[in-house]
Amino acid sequence: MSKSLQAIRGMNDILPEQTPLWRYLEGTVARLLDNYGYKQIRMPIVEFTELFKRSIGEVTDIVEKEMYTFEDRNGDSLTLRPEGTAACVRAVLEHGITGGGQVQKLWYIGPMFRHERPQKGRYRQFHQIGLEVFNLDGPDIDAELIIMTWRLWGELGIRDAVKLELNSLGTSESRGRYREALVEYLSVHHDKLDEDSQRRLKTNPLRVLDTKNADTQAVLVDAPKMADYLDEESRAHFEGLKARLDAVGIPYVLNPKLVRGLDYYSKTVFEWVTDKLGAQGTVCAGGRYDGLVEQMGGKPTTGVGFAMGIERLVLMLETLEQIPEEISRQVDVYLCAFGEEAELAGLALAERVRDQLPNLRLQVNAGAGSFKSQFKKADKSGALYALILGDDEMAQQVVGFKPLRGQGEQQSIAWDALAAHLATCVVQG
Ligand code: ATP
Ligand code: MG
Repeated sequence: MSKSLQAIRGMNDILPEQTPLWRYLEGTVARLLDNYGYKQIRMPIVEFTELFKRSIGEVTDIVEKEMYTFEDRNGDSLTLRPEGTAACVRAVLEHGITGGGQVQKLWYIGPMFRHERPQKGRYRQFHQIGLEVFNLDGPDIDAELIIMTWRLWGELGIRDAVKLELNSLGTSESRGRYREALVEYLSVHHDKLDEDSQRRLKTNPLRVLDTKNADTQAVLVDAPKMADYLDEESRAHFEGLKARLDAVGIPYVLNPKLVRGLDYYSKTVFEWVTDKLGAQGTVCAGGRYDGLVEQMGGKPTTGVGFAMGIERLVLMLETLEQIPEEISRQVDVYLCAFGEEAELAGLALAERVRDQLPNLRLQVNAGAGSFKSQFKKADKSGALYALILGDDEMAQQVVGFKPLRGQGEQQSIAWDALAAHLATCVVQG
């Protein structure tokens, strides 16, 4: 195939054999969020570039090197969204739905775009389920977000494979004081830092904390600790969060180096990490961003949220073999009809059955074919039962009912009794 007709590197098709697992995952999350009282919001995939620069921060990896930015026909600079928080904040401000302290508990799902080096668990178009809560400033809501994800890992069967890492970045004032102390300390050891960290020391010094470079890590051992700079309010908030996680029995580890890539976080930050996916170990990450809405031109409005990467969760389910058996079966019943008359009768019969059993997954053979070839297709479809309509069945106004998996003889069922019979033998999802 010529180059121009291939998908863009790092942007994947999700093929029919994969979509059942995606839908199962998305459905499980959606139901859980519904049950906790969160409402879905849908934002455009493209926004003005300025939105991301203002919210994510000019000196973050995303804005510096990962955005898909282009000029549209009006000469406006637009960007494919690299994350969801910025657009969500823009949307709530634009529609005034957080004004006057109104609480909003929102979630969204969809593709995000970052120009990164594609590898397992890291793509250029990837999908997130994200969640943002506005105007609740206590640790109870931070705890609820974590509790919901903990429940989700339980439902998905991956709880044992993920670990919660927690930190508090404090308020912007306490973080400012800490930043000064850190810069002072690191400046003394400037020559021992790797090149990236030397640059970050000037642009975004807290990011030096999550360096992967061993020499820089050695320098950091004696660096000032963020926890020592936390103001009283942040400390109480953090204690409140930990008390709630303890009450529910959710284990966590404190990671003082967890700073997150984005500029806008304050107080709580957390990540759910796994060692099952190689280098791409974070499956869900989030935190509190009390200053962001104001920074984006709104009235002071607190916020807290997280985002999880769907591709990484899909990989987890595959790696840990936590794929529920029922999702791999797409067809309950397959109807084979032989001859034109039987085909017409079969079609009408199928529609009558669907009227009575709207959740039945009933596939009607298309493309005619011999008895043998239709039967092969029925078997391949994964259906539990085949329905057979030939000359004999037509004459008697019955349908042959044949179990395809396991025992059971073929029997004849009257057309009028078919739906009732199917209702007893197919568990409908
Ligand atoms: P990482 O450190 O892995 O680059 P991040 O801190 O950039 O992640 P966030 O911006 O917090 O990630 O996004 C939340 C989640 O989205 C991540 O924890 C991850 O599961 C997923 N994610 C982020 N970037 C990608 C990507 N390029 N491909 C696939 N999933 C991603
Ligand atoms: Mg990243």
